[in-house]
Amino acid sequence: MKSSERAAGSPAGEEGYVFNIQRYSLHDGDGIRTLVFLKGCPLRCTWCSNPESQGLLPEITFDGRKCLGEDCGFCLAQCPSHSLAFDAHGVMRLETDTCRQCLQCVPACPTHALHAFGQRITAREVMDIVEADSLFYARSRGGVTLSGGEPLMQADFALSLLREAGKRHIDTLLETCGYGPWPALQALAGYCDGIYFDIKSLDDARHRRFTGRSNHRILANLLALRRHFPSLPIHVRTPLIPGFNDTRDEIARIIDFILPLADVSYEILPYHRLGSDKYRLLGRPYPPGDIHLPEETLANIIPQARRRLGRRYGPKGARFMEEPSNKANAPAT
Ligand code: SF4
Ligand code: SF4
Repeated sequence: MKSSERAAGSPAGEEGYVFNIQRYSLHDGDGIRTLVFLKGCPLRCTWCSNPESQGLLPEITFDGRKCLGEDCGFCLAQCPSHSLAFDAHGVMRLETDTCRQCLQCVPACPTHALHAFGQRITAREVMDIVEADSLFYARSRGGVTLSGGEPLMQADFALSLLREAGKRHIDTLLETCGYGPWPALQALAGYCDGIYFDIKSLDDARHRRFTGRSNHRILANLLALRRHFPSLPIHVRTPLIPGFNDTRDEIARIIDFILPLADVSYEILPYHRLGSDKYRLLGRPYPPGDIHLPEETLANIIPQARRRLGRRYGPKGARFMEEPSNKANAPAT
């Protein structure tokens, strides 16, 4: 990862870029959790449901349904690149090719038709928000989940967040696509109570075509995680994507890879189109187009995974229901 890809000017990672903090989540780890979504991702998965997470810096979106039209026009004078203009029908257009992402137009818009995905924020500020729900975490065995984007893109900031959570005795979970330098992942894992790790395909050529990156580093990182942190709960997830990995053979290869890894649990996440509207707001085409996951595909593939993995298969993974806290465990050497 190039240094220019990291959050600029964030001493010791105390500040970074976050595009959402979602409270009361029940689906990304045990109990009630607060999800902190970090900006920046090294992959470009064609089916990505969080396209606003991909760039490291905050980015502009425009929702024409909220625009007041020519009666307003407050944003026009703010734009240094003349990227905002009304067309012949009086409809506001954002020219994404010339927009410099300076965000000067955002505060001028009274209806939030112009909106910035992402903000620069300190680790303490994030954890102040997270800690407000400590009572819920204590009662439900929940905590905070770092997600993205890919937290490894802002590894120093992610480390600050995890340390701050540790100081406040908040359970920590990391969601990662696994693509990043091993030393960074190793440092983060030492402060995690569990890791959700994506494995999308064992076929490297296919992986490159659909995500823009090789899977070699990802697979090596998963092996290293299990080796260096033998008691850390690791839950592998595979998004099941039509035309990419929705065959019994593809999933069988992934299961073959994780079966020898002691106590690693597994889950298949069926494809959904929930992120498609965000592409419209960002002024981008939706790359997967009109694809769907047939019911019979699911009926074929998920029972196969259940049969082979037994109690290691399922939402959240059996390990996450049983393991005591692993925080700050010294890694194996
Ligand atoms: S972000 Fe900056 S360049 Fe882009 S439309 Fe707004 S004011 Fe113009
Ligand atoms: S400021 Fe907002 S509501 Fe007004 S014209 Fe610009 S985009 Fe539309």
